[in-house]
Amino acid sequence: MADDAARPSISSLTSSAYRDALEVIASVEPRIAEATRQELTDQRGSLKLIASENYASPAVLLTMGTWFSDKYAEGTVGHRFYAGCQNVDTVEALAAEHARELFGAEYAYAQPHSGIDANLVAYWSILAHRVEGPWLEKAQLRNVNELTEADWEALRHELGNQRLLGMSLDAGGHLTHGFRPNISGKMFHQQQYGTDPETGLLDYDVVAAKAREFRPLVLVAGYSAYPRRINFAKMREIADEVGATLMVDMAHFAGLVAGKVFTGDEDPVPHAHLVTTTTHKSLRGPRGGMVLATEEYAPSVDRGCPMVLGGPLSHVMAAKAVALAEARQPAFRTYAQQVADNAQSLADGFLSRGANLVTGGTDNHLVLLDVSSFGLTGRQAESALLDAGVVTNRNSVPADPNGAWYTSGIRLGTPALTTRGFGHDEFDRVAELIVEVLGSTEPGTTKAGAPSKASYVLADGIADRVKAASAEMLDKHPLYPGLELT
Ligand SMILES: *Cc1c(COP(=O)(O)O)cnc(C)c1O
Repeated sequence: MADDAARPSISSLTSSAYRDALEVIASVEPRIAEATRQELTDQRGSLKLIASENYASPAVLLTMGTWFSDKYAEGTVGHRFYAGCQNVDTVEALAAEHARELFGAEYAYAQPHSGIDANLVAYWSILAHRVEGPWLEKAQLRNVNELTEADWEALRHELGNQRLLGMSLDAGGHLTHGFRPNISGKMFHQQQYGTDPETGLLDYDVVAAKAREFRPLVLVAGYSAYPRRINFAKMREIADEVGATLMVDMAHFAGLVAGKVFTGDEDPVPHAHLVTTTTHKSLRGPRGGMVLATEEYAPSVDRGCPMVLGGPLSHVMAAKAVALAEARQPAFRTYAQQVADNAQSLADGFLSRGANLVTGGTDNHLVLLDVSSFGLTGRQAESALLDAGVVTNRNSVPADPNGAWYTSGIRLGTPALTTRGFGHDEFDRVAELIVEVLGSTEPGTTKAGAPSKASYVLADGIADRVKAASAEMLDKHPLYPGLELT
């Protein structure tokens, strides 16, 4: 069953608002108006299975297009470094209030511009709270302005010599969890935990053993491509045992937390010191980030600006407030449960047709399909699927023989198509169509005749057949039904 109640209904008023807006834009730069129209056409006409994407409601989208974009508001609610922030205060206070109440958090910070920014705020907040504060006390100073050059040198040394333990990228972790090329892998001494080579599952005993040996200041839990739930109570036990701060990055699965699919030990908020998130993935809000924290960390999180942020995006904070208000409606729970049920159906659809899934299935919103049994790389599979109107992204599988560029996997998520109203049977059909495309794709060769990891040959007629089958489902579940741009 789709959650029609959760889906925005578009009045003729909204259609004319968008038509007028595009006309105004076209009067300045028609090519941007045209690209904007085309993007809607393309999104309407393809099977969007990118696990980190969704379709925000018209209310959320419209909220972003206002004069709040013009306002500077560095500081915090009621304590700004610019005059005239009374309306931004209303917006930011409301976004934070909705976030606290939705997630049961003690404190919420709505300013981060993205997930990466939210993680930087959280990391520096932990460093400020755990390293800078005690260091200032030891030096008998009240604030950083009293530091001498020698003090600064000593403080830099302390801040720059802390340790972070996070999930490795190829096991499903995120760049910002200590991956070397990311700043998180350079500002901290880092170690990574992976998943069990046999089962593909997180092994808490291994994480605990690593933590005991490495004694990190920060233990990070969370993922972008791990198709399973995490027991955050266990993660907190590990953190407590070694004196680490537990940070959970729920960027991908915030919608399942908001929709009460993840509860108890699977809800990060009661267990973590800090929880970071994006707002645009399963949470279905505007593109942005957020930090939730316990009271203990609130004062240091509040200093996100000036630590790592400049002025907040007030128009996006307003849209966060609208999206969080939507997520507090009962219909959002129905949506979140359907996201998880649909992922189950997608996984079963693959397994029943003989395809291989990392960890053998899913219990969240995504599946990681290992395409090596089709004789393909992730790159070839991604391209062939796109030819057939199926939008996915290639992704490493654990210990990937093809590396992070070509990869051996395809990551698929259900949040976006569930928003359109796709249900159990349709996701089974999606699995069938994907297996059909991959089964009809052969790896290509380089110009010199060697096997290629990028080129491929998709059998004649398949792309059109799959597109036609998709169109039937897409037409039945239109994106933004009632929204007419002409
Ligand atoms: C997507 C994601 C991010 C980054 O979000 P951006 O808004 O793209 O910066 C951070 N952490 C995790 C786990 C993610 O999945």
